[in-house]
Amino acid sequence: MRQMIAGNWKMNGTLAGLAGFAAPLAAGVDGVDLLICPPFPLIGPMIAAFAGAPVAVGAQDCAVEVAGAHTGDVSAPLLAEIGASHVILGHSERRADHGERSALVRDKARTATAAGLIPIICVGETLAERESGEAETVVRAQLAGSVPDGFAGLIAYEPVWAIGTGKTPTVADVAAMHASIRASLKKQLGDAGTAMLILYGGSVKPANAAELLAIPEVGGALIGGASLEADDFLAIAQAAQ
Ligand code: PEP
Repeated sequence: MRQMIAGNWKMNGTLAGLAGFAAPLAAGVDGVDLLICPPFPLIGPMIAAFAGAPVAVGAQDCAVEVAGAHTGDVSAPLLAEIGASHVILGHSERRADHGERSALVRDKARTATAAGLIPIICVGETLAERESGEAETVVRAQLAGSVPDGFAGLIAYEPVWAIGTGKTPTVADVAAMHASIRASLKKQLGDAGTAMLILYGGSVKPANAAELLAIPEVGGALIGGASLEADDFLAIAQAAQ
Protein backbone atom coordinates (compact mmCIF):
# COMPACT_ATOMS: atom_id res chain seq x y z
CA MET A 1 0.00 0.00 0.00
CA ARG A 2 1.15 3.57 -0.75
CA GLN A 3 2.64 5.08 2.39
CA MET A 4 2.38 8.65 3.70
CA ILE A 5 5.35 10.52 5.10
CA ALA A 6 4.08 13.49 7.09
CA GLY A 7 6.07 16.23 8.80
CA ASN A 8 4.96 17.97 11.98
CA TRP A 9 6.97 21.16 12.28
CA LYS A 10 5.42 21.98 15.69
CA MET A 11 6.35 25.59 16.66
CA ASN A 12 9.35 25.69 14.32
CA GLY A 13 10.18 27.12 10.92
CA THR A 14 10.39 30.58 9.40
CA LEU A 15 8.99 32.32 6.38
CA ALA A 16 12.55 33.04 5.26
CA GLY A 17 13.41 29.34 5.26
CA LEU A 18 10.49 28.09 3.14
CA ALA A 19 11.99 28.41 -0.34
CA GLY A 20 15.13 26.56 0.68
CA PHE A 21 13.07 23.81 2.29
CA ALA A 22 10.72 23.36 -0.67
CA ALA A 23 13.30 23.22 -3.47
CA PRO A 24 14.78 19.74 -2.74
CA LEU A 25 11.28 18.29 -2.25
CA ALA A 26 9.62 19.84 -5.29
CA ALA A 27 9.92 16.72 -7.44
CA GLY A 28 8.20 14.61 -4.76
CA VAL A 29 9.05 10.96 -4.17
CA ASP A 30 7.52 8.40 -6.54
CA GLY A 31 4.98 6.14 -4.90
CA VAL A 32 4.91 8.03 -1.59
CA ASP A 33 2.47 10.71 -0.37
CA LEU A 34 4.17 13.70 1.22
CA LEU A 35 2.61 16.11 3.70
CA ILE A 36 4.05 18.92 5.82
CA CYS A 37 2.16 20.54 8.70
CA PRO A 38 3.83 23.85 9.58
CA PRO A 39 2.61 26.46 12.10
CA PHE A 40 -0.61 28.22 11.02
CA PRO A 41 0.99 31.40 9.59
CA LEU A 42 3.22 29.33 7.28
CA ILE A 43 0.44 27.21 5.76
CA GLY A 44 -0.46 29.68 3.00
CA PRO A 45 3.14 30.57 2.14
CA MET A 46 4.13 26.89 2.17
CA ILE A 47 1.30 26.03 -0.22
CA ALA A 48 2.66 28.76 -2.50
CA ALA A 49 6.23 27.47 -2.11
CA PHE A 50 5.07 23.98 -3.17
CA ALA A 51 2.84 25.20 -6.03
CA GLY A 52 2.71 22.45 -8.64
CA ALA A 53 4.71 20.02 -6.46
CA PRO A 54 3.23 16.75 -5.16
CA VAL A 55 3.51 17.84 -1.53
CA ALA A 56 0.39 18.48 0.54
CA VAL A 57 0.27 21.03 3.35
CA GLY A 58 -1.76 20.62 6.51
CA ALA A 59 -2.36 22.06 9.98
CA GLN A 60 -1.38 20.84 13.45
CA ASP A 61 -4.78 21.50 15.04
CA CYS A 62 -8.14 23.15 14.41
CA ALA A 63 -10.94 24.48 16.56
CA VAL A 64 -13.94 22.33 17.35
CA GLU A 65 -16.26 25.22 16.49
CA VAL A 66 -16.56 26.49 12.94
CA ALA A 67 -16.60 30.24 13.71
CA GLY A 68 -17.29 32.78 16.42
CA ALA A 69 -15.90 34.17 19.66
CA HIS A 70 -12.93 31.84 20.19
CA THR A 71 -9.89 34.08 20.48
CA GLY A 72 -6.70 32.48 19.21
CA ASP A 73 -8.39 29.46 17.65
CA VAL A 74 -8.34 28.63 13.94
CA SER A 75 -11.33 27.12 12.19
CA ALA A 76 -11.33 24.06 9.97
CA PRO A 77 -13.35 25.80 7.20
CA LEU A 78 -10.73 28.57 7.02
CA LEU A 79 -7.90 26.03 6.87
CA ALA A 80 -9.68 24.23 4.05
CA GLU A 81 -10.37 27.51 2.26
CA ILE A 82 -6.67 28.45 2.18
CA GLY A 83 -5.76 25.03 0.81
CA ALA A 84 -4.78 22.86 3.77
CA SER A 85 -5.52 19.20 3.06
CA HIS A 86 -5.01 17.49 6.42
CA VAL A 87 -5.08 18.36 10.11
CA ILE A 88 -3.23 16.62 12.94
CA LEU A 89 -5.57 16.16 15.92
CA GLY A 90 -4.94 14.95 19.46
CA HIS A 91 -1.14 15.14 19.29
CA SER A 92 0.25 14.24 22.71
CA GLU A 93 1.60 17.78 23.07
CA ARG A 94 -1.95 19.14 22.59
CA ARG A 95 -3.29 16.54 25.02
CA ALA A 96 -0.59 17.45 27.61
CA ASP A 97 -0.18 21.23 27.09
CA HIS A 98 -3.82 22.09 26.41
CA GLY A 99 -5.68 19.39 28.30
CA GLU A 100 -7.28 18.00 25.14
CA ARG A 101 -9.33 14.92 25.94
CA SER A 102 -10.33 12.21 23.51
CA ALA A 103 -13.95 13.44 23.32
CA LEU A 104 -12.73 16.85 22.11
CA VAL A 105 -10.43 15.19 19.58
CA ARG A 106 -13.39 13.18 18.28
CA ASP A 107 -15.50 16.33 17.94
CA LYS A 108 -12.66 18.16 16.20
CA ALA A 109 -12.35 15.24 13.77
CA ARG A 110 -16.04 15.62 12.93
CA THR A 111 -15.65 19.39 12.41
CA ALA A 112 -12.53 18.91 10.28
CA THR A 113 -14.13 16.25 8.11
CA ALA A 114 -17.23 18.36 7.55
CA ALA A 115 -14.93 21.18 6.37
CA GLY A 116 -13.22 18.86 3.88
CA LEU A 117 -9.98 18.31 5.82
CA ILE A 118 -8.52 14.84 6.37
CA PRO A 119 -7.82 14.33 10.10
CA ILE A 120 -4.77 12.49 11.40
CA ILE A 121 -5.72 11.37 14.91
CA CYS A 122 -2.76 10.77 17.23
CA VAL A 123 -2.71 8.16 19.98
CA GLY A 124 0.06 6.79 22.16
CA GLU A 125 0.99 5.72 25.65
CA THR A 126 3.34 7.30 28.21
CA LEU A 127 6.44 5.51 29.47
CA ALA A 128 4.74 4.69 32.76
CA GLU A 129 1.81 3.15 30.89
CA ARG A 130 4.16 1.04 28.73
CA GLU A 131 6.21 -0.08 31.71
CA SER A 132 3.10 -1.16 33.58
CA GLY A 133 1.94 -3.23 30.60
CA GLU A 134 -1.03 -0.99 29.84
CA ALA A 135 0.09 0.42 26.48
CA GLU A 136 -2.42 -1.43 24.29
CA THR A 137 -5.29 -0.82 26.72
CA VAL A 138 -4.52 2.91 26.83
CA VAL A 139 -4.29 3.21 23.06
CA ARG A 140 -7.49 1.20 22.55
CA ALA A 141 -9.29 3.57 24.92
CA GLN A 142 -7.88 6.61 23.10
CA LEU A 143 -9.12 5.19 19.79
CA ALA A 144 -12.55 4.41 21.17
CA GLY A 145 -12.82 7.96 22.51
CA SER A 146 -11.15 9.90 19.69
CA VAL A 147 -12.30 8.21 16.49
CA PRO A 148 -15.81 9.24 15.44
CA ASP A 149 -18.27 6.93 13.72
CA GLY A 150 -17.71 6.90 9.98
CA PHE A 151 -14.16 8.25 10.36
CA ALA A 152 -12.25 8.41 7.08
CA GLY A 153 -8.85 9.85 8.03
CA LEU A 154 -5.57 8.45 9.28
CA ILE A 155 -4.27 7.30 12.66
CA ALA A 156 -0.80 8.07 14.00
CA TYR A 157 0.60 5.86 16.75
CA GLU A 158 3.09 7.98 18.65
CA PRO A 159 4.38 6.61 21.96
CA VAL A 160 4.78 9.76 24.08
CA TRP A 161 8.14 8.58 25.41
CA ALA A 162 9.53 8.23 21.88
CA ILE A 163 8.68 11.76 20.76
CA GLY A 164 11.78 13.93 20.48
CA THR A 165 13.81 11.59 22.70
CA GLY A 166 15.78 9.56 20.17
CA LYS A 167 14.18 6.41 21.64
CA THR A 168 11.98 4.11 19.59
CA PRO A 169 10.02 0.99 20.53
CA THR A 170 11.32 -2.33 19.26
CA VAL A 171 10.13 -3.58 15.91
CA ALA A 172 8.12 -6.24 17.74
CA ASP A 173 6.43 -3.63 19.94
CA VAL A 174 5.51 -1.42 16.98
CA ALA A 175 4.18 -4.47 15.10
CA ALA A 176 2.09 -5.56 18.08
CA MET A 177 0.66 -2.07 18.64
CA HIS A 178 -0.18 -1.51 14.98
CA ALA A 179 -1.89 -4.91 14.83
CA SER A 180 -3.88 -3.99 17.93
CA ILE A 181 -4.84 -0.61 16.40
CA ARG A 182 -5.91 -2.35 13.19
CA ALA A 183 -8.13 -4.71 15.17
CA SER A 184 -9.71 -1.78 17.03
CA LEU A 185 -10.32 0.15 13.81
CA LYS A 186 -11.99 -2.85 12.17
CA LYS A 187 -14.20 -3.29 15.21
CA GLN A 188 -15.13 0.41 15.32
CA LEU A 189 -15.38 1.16 11.63
CA GLY A 190 -15.90 -2.14 9.85
CA ASP A 191 -14.51 -2.26 6.29
CA ALA A 192 -13.28 1.34 6.51
CA GLY A 193 -10.93 0.25 9.28
CA THR A 194 -9.27 -2.36 7.09
CA ALA A 195 -7.44 -0.01 4.74
CA MET A 196 -6.98 3.03 6.98
CA LEU A 197 -3.33 4.16 7.12
CA ILE A 198 -1.73 3.84 10.55
CA LEU A 199 1.39 6.00 10.73
CA TYR A 200 4.18 5.47 13.25
CA GLY A 201 5.66 8.55 14.93
CA GLY A 202 8.41 9.04 17.49
CA SER A 203 12.10 9.71 16.72
CA VAL A 204 11.91 8.55 13.10
CA LYS A 205 15.20 9.47 11.39
CA PRO A 206 16.86 8.57 8.09
CA ALA A 207 18.89 5.92 9.96
CA ASN A 208 15.89 3.99 11.35
CA ALA A 209 13.20 4.80 8.78
CA ALA A 210 13.59 1.74 6.54
CA GLU A 211 13.29 -0.66 9.48
CA LEU A 212 10.24 1.10 10.95
CA LEU A 213 8.45 1.56 7.61
CA ALA A 214 8.84 -2.13 6.76
CA ILE A 215 6.85 -3.27 9.81
CA PRO A 216 3.49 -4.84 8.92
CA GLU A 217 0.56 -2.40 9.33
CA VAL A 218 2.89 0.63 9.38
CA GLY A 219 1.42 2.84 6.67
CA GLY A 220 3.95 5.64 6.87
CA ALA A 221 5.42 8.00 9.42
CA LEU A 222 4.66 11.22 11.27
CA ILE A 223 7.94 13.01 11.78
CA GLY A 224 8.78 15.89 14.08
CA GLY A 225 12.43 16.93 14.37
CA ALA A 226 13.64 15.18 11.22
CA SER A 227 11.00 16.91 9.09
CA LEU A 228 12.64 20.31 9.59
CA GLU A 229 15.53 19.55 7.25
CA ALA A 230 14.49 18.80 3.67
CA ASP A 231 17.35 16.32 3.16
CA ASP A 232 16.35 14.25 6.20
CA PHE A 233 12.67 14.33 5.26
CA LEU A 234 13.52 13.30 1.70
CA ALA A 235 15.72 10.44 2.90
CA ILE A 236 12.90 9.15 5.13
CA ALA A 237 10.42 9.39 2.26
CA GLN A 238 12.80 7.49 -0.02
CA ALA A 239 12.94 4.75 2.60
CA ALA A 240 9.17 4.35 2.12
CA GLN A 241 9.53 3.56 -1.60
C1 PEP B 1 5.92 14.23 16.69
O1 PEP B 1 5.92 15.10 17.53
O2 PEP B 1 4.88 14.03 16.02
C2 PEP B 1 7.13 13.45 16.49
C3 PEP B 1 7.02 12.27 16.00
O3 PEP B 1 8.33 14.04 16.88
P1 PEP B 1 9.82 13.45 16.69
O4 PEP B 1 9.90 12.85 15.30
O5 PEP B 1 10.72 14.64 16.84
O6 PEP B 1 10.02 12.42 17.73
